[in-house]
Amino acid sequence: TEKEKLNFIEQMIEKDLAEGKNDGRLHTRFPPEPNGYLHIGHAKSICLNFGLAEKYNGLCNLRFDDTNPEKEETEYVESIKEDIKWLGFDWGDREYYASDYFDQLYDYAVKLIKDGKAYIDDQPAELISEQRGTPNEPGKESPYRNRPVEESLEIFEDMKAGKYDEGTHVLRAKIDMTSPVMQMRDPVIYRIKKMAHHRTGDKWCIYPTYDFAHGQSDSIEGITHSLCTLEFAAHRPLYNWFIENLGIFPSEQTEFARLNLGYTIVSKRKLRELVEGGHVDGWDDPRMPTISGIRRRGYTPESIRSFADKIGVAKRNGISDVALLEFSVREDLNKKANRVLGVLDPVKLIITNYPEGQTEELDAVNNPEDESAGKRKIPFSREVYIERGDFMEDPQKKFFRMGPDREVRLKYAYIVKCTGFKKNDAGEIEEIYAEYDPATKSGQDNTGKKVKGTLGWVDANAGIETEVRLYDRLFMTEDLNKIEDDFKNHLNPDSLQVMKNAVAEPSVKDMKPGEQFQFERMGYFIIDKGSTGDKPIINRTVTLRDNWAK
Ligand code: ATP
Ligand code: MG
Ligand code: MG
Repeated sequence: TEKEKLNFIEQMIEKDLAEGKNDGRLHTRFPPEPNGYLHIGHAKSICLNFGLAEKYNGLCNLRFDDTNPEKEETEYVESIKEDIKWLGFDWGDREYYASDYFDQLYDYAVKLIKDGKAYIDDQPAELISEQRGTPNEPGKESPYRNRPVEESLEIFEDMKAGKYDEGTHVLRAKIDMTSPVMQMRDPVIYRIKKMAHHRTGDKWCIYPTYDFAHGQSDSIEGITHSLCTLEFAAHRPLYNWFIENLGIFPSEQTEFARLNLGYTIVSKRKLRELVEGGHVDGWDDPRMPTISGIRRRGYTPESIRSFADKIGVAKRNGISDVALLEFSVREDLNKKANRVLGVLDPVKLIITNYPEGQTEELDAVNNPEDESAGKRKIPFSREVYIERGDFMEDPQKKFFRMGPDREVRLKYAYIVKCTGFKKNDAGEIEEIYAEYDPATKSGQDNTGKKVKGTLGWVDANAGIETEVRLYDRLFMTEDLNKIEDDFKNHLNPDSLQVMKNAVAEPSVKDMKPGEQFQFERMGYFIIDKGSTGDKPIINRTVTLRDNWAK
């Protein structure tokens, strides 16, 4: 029997289900605010919420938490849906918007006022926050705290009708100005914002705060387990207070540690700053930790889900290693990606004893991990490109690739022996010369000859020109939560390297944007979404091995 270890949320759910709580229902939700593109941190929350629903035969709602009209846009709603689908999750017809509950939330607020549990405060925001005090001393009650219910009701209606300017009045819950939990000190639950909303247009000029909208939205949807990140632990008493005092379905909030990733920013606000400041090429720049960015980079849905699995769910904040994310995508692509020959920084190798004008087709294995991927033919002739770094004029002992008088195998082809080279005026190697041994053809070699190095190569005539983009970490500092200066000071100036002269075997020409492969020995790559055939643009997803070993 397989006995897997349950995380603390699964333990809680199994206990609730076993006790028949909520009639044995499990219902979660993923509640993004449509104010930016989703990032890898959201992916963790998506995998958690949708994953639990799958595992326990429950449901998971997609709810746009769109109660703040300021930064929200329909563009973001669309991208969020696309990203969740791409990750492989399906909300069916359970697509909800907190803004659909504005009428209901307004009625809840009226009920609290009528019950003497909410009041209109006429004081400015700064004064209200000053009076809230500090955790160690009680706050000061507002002079409006005990104003008559009728007066609060009337003002609230007039606020809704647009009769007051922004900042003149707020609605506050009447809870406890001495509570050690700051959120309970008469929190603001409605404010005036004369701003159009991406869905409700100009219907409203008062909007509920996050705290007044979130728990009630959970409750309206019958959410049983409302999972959120640890920052919201302090809001839980308030979450429960609203539910109790409104007498509505008791959804329960549970907090888990947010995903923090080394060398990575996971905050929509900061990611937007990178986009708007032109530090990256849009939300889907392949260096961005957005789901659209990592998708364009070549990360697969399976690799993200497996990463989310591996990091698990914790009760304490920590920082996850990017190496684990990279491992997950290598593991997935190793099984799926066909091998292709390519050269990023080419130098010409001329095989002087190979007949001029002759071409032959060699057999190459598409994927040694997957026999069903089959074989292909690759052209070979007298002139090929090899990687500049695969040749040393004066090779060190441990260098097993090409150097004067050395023998190496050209993958799928022959053993060649270097006979010389030519430099240009600038002192750079321009051409390398070699002789091949016709008896050493791969698959038919009975010579018993052994060589230590095997090189990738691309036929100089048949190969195609490409532009290969190599990506490195966007930031130079691992724990960006610990810095005190502007996070943009920590950007890695070398996060993008463009190999404009890269060449690839001809099969790459037929690949479509989004197609993925391994350039043998160099890593996993993907045809960029903006690539147009003539000179394919190729993104490196990840190197073959972790180059960051300390
Ligand atoms: P950001 O600060 O990036 O805007 P957010 O929490 O404000 O993040 P929301 O759109 O409100 O963004 O988040 C939707 C859901 O995703 C929430 O339930 C939130 O807790 C969760 N979430 C956001 N960031 C992370 C993270 N880094 N790790 C895990 N879950 C996250
Ligand atoms: Mg939020
Ligand atoms: Mg936010």
